[in-house]
Amino acid sequence: MTDHTHADTLRTPIVAVLGHVDHGKTSLLDTIRGSAVSEGEAGAITQHIGATDIPLDTISGMAGELIDPTDFDLPGLLFIDTPGHHSFSTLRARGGALADIAVLVVDVNDGFQPQTEEAIDILRRTGTPFVVAANKADTTPGWNPQDGEPIQKSMEAQSERAKSMLDENLYEIIGQLSDAGFSADLYWRVQDFQKNIGVVPLSALTGEGVPDLLTVLMGLSQRFMKEEMAIDVTGPGEGTVLEVKDERGFGATVDTVVYDGVIRNGDTVVVGGQDEPIVTEVRALLRPRPLAEIRTEKEFEKVGEIGAAAGVKIAAPDLDRAMAGAPVRVVRDRTVEEVVEEVKAELAEIEVETADN
Ligand code: GDP
Repeated sequence: MTDHTHADTLRTPIVAVLGHVDHGKTSLLDTIRGSAVSEGEAGAITQHIGATDIPLDTISGMAGELIDPTDFDLPGLLFIDTPGHHSFSTLRARGGALADIAVLVVDVNDGFQPQTEEAIDILRRTGTPFVVAANKADTTPGWNPQDGEPIQKSMEAQSERAKSMLDENLYEIIGQLSDAGFSADLYWRVQDFQKNIGVVPLSALTGEGVPDLLTVLMGLSQRFMKEEMAIDVTGPGEGTVLEVKDERGFGATVDTVVYDGVIRNGDTVVVGGQDEPIVTEVRALLRPRPLAEIRTEKEFEKVGEIGAAAGVKIAAPDLDRAMAGAPVRVVRDRTVEEVVEEVKAELAEIEVETADN
């Protein structure tokens, strides 16, 4: 059942990767980016500020037989680059989580660790749908690596002994998820992803199981978040500040993930600040320049507008008191006061959350 009539208004779901330190968040993101690029097509990925966009075509190329691209009309997946749940817990959007969906990375040998528990608590509190990446499957003794293959195909190439050792670790993790109050199973056994958490065994090192992870993320988004992804692409832009950064020639800038509408150069925006909301005017919208051009030219290129979902650097006067995690709102055809009140209300909510934890 594919409805293409509204395809131009469906935005890319925003994906966050979290988990205990050293369990492989950074490696997993690198592998996803790297194997996407080695798919070879131009436009295989688009590097944003603070995020990476992987289009459906690329995911489908990586996932091979696992995916039928005609089942999907969401444009792909936008992975937030900044790993770590501390940033995740401050990255809010309209009182919910900025990320629409999350990957909880757990080392198959280590199982749940303190930061895994913390991450689970945050996911529960924000009601964020997630899948578990049971990483480092390749460290199973006797493992016979099958680079980049779907995990079940890779399992077929393993000895009985290796398979049962991995299984044992996987069931340990499934048990720990259950102790945390989540019914979970290996993803290919899950019938209803709204009731059960899918566990995807994989290796960020060899890439096996990565096609499965992308398939599950795409499927989850399509099935359960399609309505939330339907946006007015011409509406006033809304986003969340990832980071405040000084940039030579621009002064203080805010790296922002835009999750709704569009931000245009020259727009009046309200940005959450350390004291008061900041009302300012966009002087430049900056994107990373493609790698090939960076050597000879500047690091960023200016764009006239940027629509959700995307990561962008906003240059505007008075941003030095802007705050990571704070909302960014385009004023457009509303009054500045109205938007300032909206930003204040959202900041108050973030402060309550922070005080509670
Ligand atoms: P992070 O702290 O969660 O971002 O973890 P990293 O991505 O930095 O990984 C921590 C260590 O584990 C690094 O030395 C990685 O090379 C290693 N690592 C990550 N994923 C895998 C994997 O799938 N297999 C193996 N063998 N090592 C991995």
